[in-house]
Amino acid sequence: MRPAPPLSIGARATAELLERYGLRPDKRLGQHFLIDPNQVDRIVRLAGVQAGDHVVEVGPGLGALTAGLVDAGAIVVAVEIDEGLVRVIEGEFDIPQVSVVHADALEVDWSTAAPAEHSWAMVANLPYNVATPLVLDVLDEVPQVTSMLVMVQREVAERLVAAPGSSNYGVPSVKVAFWATGELVAKIPPSVFLPPPRVESALVRLDRHATPRFDEPVDQVFTLVRAAFSQRRKMLRKSLGGLVTPDVFEAAGVDPQARPEQIGVEAWVALSQARRDARS
Ligand code: SAM
Repeated sequence: MRPAPPLSIGARATAELLERYGLRPDKRLGQHFLIDPNQVDRIVRLAGVQAGDHVVEVGPGLGALTAGLVDAGAIVVAVEIDEGLVRVIEGEFDIPQVSVVHADALEVDWSTAAPAEHSWAMVANLPYNVATPLVLDVLDEVPQVTSMLVMVQREVAERLVAAPGSSNYGVPSVKVAFWATGELVAKIPPSVFLPPPRVESALVRLDRHATPRFDEPVDQVFTLVRAAFSQRRKMLRKSLGGLVTPDVFEAAGVDPQARPEQIGVEAWVALSQARRDARS
């Protein structure tokens, strides 16, 4: 394998690269480029990337993280929505270890971009506006992605990994707990990006359970979870009134007077199972 081309990523080099390709950061696409090589090393290390691993990177941008992944020996599929940045990655990474897919990561056909014959790690500095739906969709629909190390807005990170009882606990936290274990592994200041975002960022690591913990259909479970959290201050007997009868609460062993933020994933699954049993 050929080594990654040397890519310097300081503030000046980043500005020069943008100028050379006639580009400007597009804030609507969450374009905040990493300019600190130490953070790139840290992300690659926390992701545990080993030589020969298959990695999907959403939003390679100017390639700062892509270069770190290639240096670690990864085979990288980079999914980028911005045509100008696709040109940069194709121009700067004309090596067999990197392939670029010009697509919206929320729409891409993952069976083609990251075929299930391998297991994949997703390692990415995610655009803020798509981070939550993307992570949750990948958990639901792309089982070959077995781990994720993603940079997201700090509040999003806290919601993804929150435990019951926390004010951050909500639909994303239950979805993560359904499929994986999650941990906020580092907080990242705005100063490591160009341009700096207005918010703090954080790195989250998600490890998918090797075999799914629950065989309850995920859509049935989340019909209940979403209904309850849409009225998060109400007791479950109110918010789930049209969906769950008192008998079902009892069969599931769930207190109908509880509020959704008090209920762990096992209890959500038990409610869903008891509801289906009652209907069959
Ligand atoms: N990885 C680069 C880095 O760390 O310097 C850039 C990260 S920047 C925060 C987010 C990147 O995601 C940008 O390159 C942006 O164009 C891209 N992007 C935004 N929305 C996207 C989408 N829906 N699908 C794929 N890429 C997207």
